[in-house]
Amino acid sequence: MEAVALKERENQIYIKGETPFNIVCDKDSLAGAVSQRACVFCGSRVVLYPIADALHLVHGPIGCAVYTWDIRGALSSGPELHRLSFSTDLQEMDVIFGGEKKLRQALLELIDRHNPKAAFVYSTCIVGIIGDDLEAICRQVEREKGIPVIPVKSEGFKGNKRAGYQAACDAMFRLIGTGETSNISKFSLNILGDFNLAGEIWMIREYYERMGIEVVANITGDGRVDDIRRAHGAALNVVQCSGSTMQLANMMEEQYGVPSMRVSYFGVEDMSEALYDIARFFKKKFPGDREADAIMERTMALVQEEVRNLMPGLEKYRKALAGKKAAIYVGGSFKAFSLVKAFRLVDMQVVLVGSQTGTEEDYRELEAITDPGTIIVDDSNPLELTSFLKEKGVDIFVGGVKERPIAYKLGIGFCDHNHERKEVLAGFEGMLNFAREVYSSVMSPVWRFVPRAKSTE
Ligand code: SF4
Repeated sequence: MEAVALKERENQIYIKGETPFNIVCDKDSLAGAVSQRACVFCGSRVVLYPIADALHLVHGPIGCAVYTWDIRGALSSGPELHRLSFSTDLQEMDVIFGGEKKLRQALLELIDRHNPKAAFVYSTCIVGIIGDDLEAICRQVEREKGIPVIPVKSEGFKGNKRAGYQAACDAMFRLIGTGETSNISKFSLNILGDFNLAGEIWMIREYYERMGIEVVANITGDGRVDDIRRAHGAALNVVQCSGSTMQLANMMEEQYGVPSMRVSYFGVEDMSEALYDIARFFKKKFPGDREADAIMERTMALVQEEVRNLMPGLEKYRKALAGKKAAIYVGGSFKAFSLVKAFRLVDMQVVLVGSQTGTEEDYRELEAITDPGTIIVDDSNPLELTSFLKEKGVDIFVGGVKERPIAYKLGIGFCDHNHERKEVLAGFEGMLNFAREVYSSVMSPVWRFVPRAKSTE
């Protein structure tokens, strides 16, 4: 490997097969390493933002609000208040004399104007420094306006993106348990950790409906405040992006006894397994119940039908892509597991896989499912990624908004599997779209005119 990693980061990079598995992770980024990670505020905002009938007010300088505005492109089937980015636009005088008065005025004005079901108020770095009392202001406004006004303790500097996920879960947990649950089916679940990019949650909900299962709350894609308030009445929490919402599932299990299950909706294998796991859960919970048996039968029929429809289309892409090389760098590593399997389904080789916030358990699992020689990296940066992509002669790089320019500068195809994508990549249909997108990028004639970075292997 080229010597590109800073000495202090070398133990966050592991090459499968070279030494026994060992990787350091789940720690603060090295100062000066220019991590691909986002701040705490960004972490909380991307989780809460898809709640479409809530007001999202960023208490801080205008730059913080711009940073995350519309970052997920999360679609709503109804209200679109979440698409508006509100900020208290703190200025020098507010920093000196405090921003509480401005925050209160902003909240009162926005609630009167937009009539939201709840308001989330995000704390940013400067608010943490000047010490505005968000709790007190939110409590006052909540009393005056009669809607939940919830402070999100997301001061950017107080950790990494993971701490922002926790702040978002803490904020939502204040809503849960406040709604009516009496008419919820015993065959019900909440969808956690899907953000409805390109409308994916609608497709997943449809699968559940075909199985005969009621979805109580979307947390948070196409989310609604009233649904989240009654989420504790569901029989099961199904958690996809576990990094961002597993803490909420754990808190719900502890307080309300709602069990949870980790799933992934990406790739044929994981999508099928997710549906089967849920059907198995209800069969086990209600042994001998005819409806639980019927759910299992409907699930089997659904998976068979979807796979039958998908496979012929996939074959064309598999033939063309076999042997090509892929690199993956994503926020949470759970998605990386599914992507490794999805690439395998089209006979592609994954040579690099990494994440911003993976745990040792996650990386251990990645090590188990990847081929010898694969680079596994935690909390990487542009310099490292650039050198790995060149070294491995990668044909396609899968990542998010911050990885895209790295690929394009190297003349490498890119697939956005994050906030900005406009096409469904989850579910059975999503697997075909994914293969088509990878095919279009890898086989594009544009590479005849763009100098591609040379492999150093
Ligand atoms: S919260 Fe802090 S780190 Fe995050 S965008 Fe605002 S100023 Fe930057």
